[in-house]
Amino acid sequence: MERVYNFSAGPAVLPVDVLKEAQKELVNYGSSGMSVMEMSHRSKDYQIIIDKTESTLREIMNIPDNYKVLFLQGGASLQFAMVPLNLMTKNKKADFIDSGVWAAKAIQEAKKYGDVNVIASSKADTYSHIPNYKDSDFDKEADYVYICSNNTIYGTRFNELPDTGDVPLVADMSSTILSEEIDVSKYGVIFAGSQKNMGPAGATVVIIREDLIGNADGSIPTMLDYKIHADADSMYNTPPTYTIYMLGLVFDWIKNQGGIKEIERINKEKAALLYDCIDGSKLFKGTTAVEDRSLMNVTFITGDADLDALFVKEAMEAGLVNLKGHRSVGGMRASIYNAMPLEGVKALVDFMTTFEQKNA
Ligand SMILES: *Cc1c(COP(=O)(O)O)cnc(C)c1O
Repeated sequence: MERVYNFSAGPAVLPVDVLKEAQKELVNYGSSGMSVMEMSHRSKDYQIIIDKTESTLREIMNIPDNYKVLFLQGGASLQFAMVPLNLMTKNKKADFIDSGVWAAKAIQEAKKYGDVNVIASSKADTYSHIPNYKDSDFDKEADYVYICSNNTIYGTRFNELPDTGDVPLVADMSSTILSEEIDVSKYGVIFAGSQKNMGPAGATVVIIREDLIGNADGSIPTMLDYKIHADADSMYNTPPTYTIYMLGLVFDWIKNQGGIKEIERINKEKAALLYDCIDGSKLFKGTTAVEDRSLMNVTFITGDADLDALFVKEAMEAGLVNLKGHRSVGGMRASIYNAMPLEGVKALVDFMTTFEQKNA
């Protein structure tokens, strides 16, 4: 069986070069005589791997020195609790923008720990756009403002960041991290699960400004305290060693592609190809507000559920897989993360064009 073009929202496609590199080193890493999977996380060989993974991430994202990088477990979903447990500690309130189900889950979780103020929501419009808000809506006394930068399920993104003044901005970047250049200094906390744009599942990357560490109540579980992990350089307990190694390979790959600037250029080209196809089509329609369209998750429908199902089935037979939309939305979703090559998007556009000719 040949490799397919995998449009899964996550776990998602990885660069073939990265998979081949991992394969080459799988059984015997360097001069260690063992697989990375078999190494003690306290070994010299492994320390070099995790240090290099972090330093490459710092380099490609241009992360300032006053930010810590943590490699944690529990997925992005655990951050829905860790963020309030660590940050909602001064005035015990935070502002949220409800732009989708992932943001809504973070809201539900934060409510357990303090006052949650939902500044704006687009739920009534099935999250088809980024909610309207004004910077003056934010509470200056809030402990933080929370957004989900890219809404994986719906295919929307924040093109502009809220201006929160001195209030730290917290962003769930699970499906957009490393896809375009960002200014890390505009954020208090950035977090992302590994399995969308960084590598296999199993690690959560947290990038956190140092002054936001160490404010948690002593009664919270040790494993949920950012300070514990920051002080131990992500080695308080056994980290997800192999996933971190894979992330390191992906970060190197990004660097070798010309960095995030070049990745962003290609991502914009890929997204434009697909959106142009949708906009020029009489059969396919986009499902989100044009100005909020995601570069990573492209959602579209035919307007006929049976035809959508036929599209997904025939696409799969043509080697274009995982195009079914999220179960809460229906239709189609093409996730075109960094590792999806331009040829994959071209193949999808060709397939859509042919499908339209046959079924219009
Ligand atoms: C996938 C996803 C999550 C959930 O990630 P887990 O690692 O499965 O917990 C959270 N937020 C966003 C934006 C996502 O895309």
